Formats: sequence, C-alpha cells, structure tokens
Amino acid sequence: MEEKRVPEGVYDILIIGGGPAGYTAGLYASRGGMNTSLIESLSVMGQATMTEVIENYPGIDSINGFDMIMTFKKQAEKFGLKTLQGTVKKIFRQEKEGLSIWKIEDESGSHEALSVIIATGASPKKLGVPGEAEFAGKGVSYCATCDGAFFKEKDIAVVGGGDTAIEEAIYLTRFGKKVTIIHRRDRLRAAKVIQERAINNGKIDFVLSSVVEEISGSDKVEKIILSNKETAEKRELKADGIFIFVGWHPNTDFVKEVIELDEHNAIIADSAMKTSVKGIFAAGDCCRKVLHQVVTAAGDGAVAAYSAQKYVEELKGTAYPERTG
Ligand code: NAP
Repeated sequence: MEEKRVPEGVYDILIIGGGPAGYTAGLYASRGGMNTSLIESLSVMGQATMTEVIENYPGIDSINGFDMIMTFKKQAEKFGLKTLQGTVKKIFRQEKEGLSIWKIEDESGSHEALSVIIATGASPKKLGVPGEAEFAGKGVSYCATCDGAFFKEKDIAVVGGGDTAIEEAIYLTRFGKKVTIIHRRDRLRAAKVIQERAINNGKIDFVLSSVVEEISGSDKVEKIILSNKETAEKRELKADGIFIFVGWHPNTDFVKEVIELDEHNAIIADSAMKTSVKGIFAAGDCCRKVLHQVVTAAGDGAVAAYSAQKYVEELKGTAYPERTG
C-alpha cells in the first residue's frame, strides 16, 4: 500500500481531556511514535484531581490526586506529548489532501488530527434543590480538597452514600468540628472498608433515609432543611458548609451529535475503545463502564491509544501487514 503524506499541522492523534485516561493515552501514543497532542480544559477539574487521597492504584501506596495527575502528565510529556489548553466545543470530519481528518474546535480556534481520543471524564451531579446554585462558593461545594480548609472548626454536611461521599467526609474531619453524612437510603453504597473507617470516626454522624429539601442562609450557608423519606418528617440541620457527592455526568455534550451515547450520555465504546464512528476512540469516565477507577481509566487510555495508532497507521498506509497464516 502506498504511504500517504500527512498534511502539515495535522496530528496523528488528538486526545481531549487531561485525566488518568487522557494522559495514559498520551503516554502510549507518544511513546509509540505518534505525533500526539492533548487538549485540556483548565476550567474543568477531573474526579481524580479533586480526590485528596488515592490508595488503590497498584504500586503506589497513597498519593494526592492532583500530584498523581502531574506525575502522569510529566511522564507523557517526556515521550513528546504536547499539551494544549482549551475547551472543545465541536468535532467534525473533513477531507484534506486525500485524507479523512477530524477538525476539533475550541473557544479560540481549531486543531486537526487523523484520529481523536475522547477522555473528557465526568462532572459532579447537582442536587437541584433551592439554595444550591445561590450558595455555590458560599458554603456549597463539590470538592473537599479545594474547599475543605475554609471550614476549620465548622459544621459540615456531606450528601451522598457512595465511595466519594464517604471518603471525602473522612477527609473533611481534618477540618470540621463535626461532619454529618446525609444519605437517601437506610444504608450506604460505599465499599465496606471505607464505610468502617467512617463509622469508627468520632467526628462523623449519619442521617440516613433523608434528602436535602433546601439549603438556606443569609449571605452564606447556615442551615439545611432535611426530609425523612420514611416518616416525611422535616428537620433543620445547622451547617456552615455542604459538600455534595451524588455522582457524575459524563462530559459528552460536544459529541452527542457525532457518536453513539447511552441513556446516561456515556459514550458506548467496545473492548478496543472504538466508538460508533471510525477514527474516534474513547477512554475513562466519559464511557459506559462498570468500574470507575483511576486504574481502569488508565487501562482504557492505553487501549484507546493502541487502537488509534493502528487506525492511523492503516490510514497512512504504514501498518504492518496482517498475519497471513
Ligand atoms: P456513586 O457511586 O454513583 O454514588 C452516588 C451516591 O449519591 C449514591 O449513594 C446515590 O444514592 C447518591 N445520590 C445520587 N443522586 C442523588 C440525589 N439526587 N440525592 C441524594 N443522593 C443522591 O458516585 P461516587 O461515589 O462519586 O463514585 C463514582 C464512581 O467512582 C464509583 O464507581 C465509585 O466506586 C468510584 N470511586 C471509587 C473510589 C475508590 O475506589 N476509593 C473513590 C471514589 C469514587 P443511591 O445509593 O441511592 O444510588
């Protein structure tokens, strides 16, 4: 097959998103000799970056999430990954000098690539109750690492019963006088090992089978109105801060017209991390998957880079021929 020349300025692979999935894809693609760039949005903090302590990434006993991502980034850049800043708004296919390329538009311009890996992660879900938007940054937070230190010796409420809520509630006991976990069921969803640490922490209280009806105060959060789901009884809880950890929405709005998503807006990718459209691959928490972890995101990133590299080599006519027998 004749080798095709790649037009000037067209990357082999463009990765969208700077979390564990994106940087692992960047590491594998750059190390594999692909001309690779990664575009990340400074306004979006990923789940790993917002995590105070990660202690289940094999080989690393315990590490702060932000420090871990910086290590991922440095390692990928060592192999030649270029990092750009921007928030991607749109991607579409174009023909250029006989090659099918992807055009990726952000707020300040556009980039071109033979293939795209989407690794945009997910954003914190909101409760959607009165006072939540009004008091954002005035006592309502979605990031304990970022805002915990503002609540020294204060009353803190944490909403949610999953791993994130319980782990971050434990972290917040470093600052708060008391941390109250509010969960809508009569038991927690979080892993047992995490639950036990919270139950044994003298600063943590639990309000189960309850939902937040309203967050209120004058110029900052002062109290929360709770409703018991079994008795319908309402009560007030004094709180200076409320940390909301009720799950995540995949950051896929910009590709919803381009590739297939599931009913929760998660990208449907196969085991090779191929999406429904040729030349677009996906990795990490923006995908439909059973286990959302740094290690699984990193694994997805490695597979996506491998698949994207094969696709690019076939497009360019440089692929090693398939086995004949
Ligand atoms: P999650 O597992 O989806 O849990 C979200 C929690 O919020 C659930 O308890 C859910 O209640 C509750 N919730 C959802 N919507 C709500 C609403 N409108 N009002 C009140 N409560 C609501 O999310 P996550 O804890 O962020 O975890 C996301 C993924 O990351 C999971 O796969 C988790 O295992 C993983 N993760 C792992 C670690 C770790 O391994 N150390 C740490 C953090 C996260 P229900 O239980 O009733 O659904």
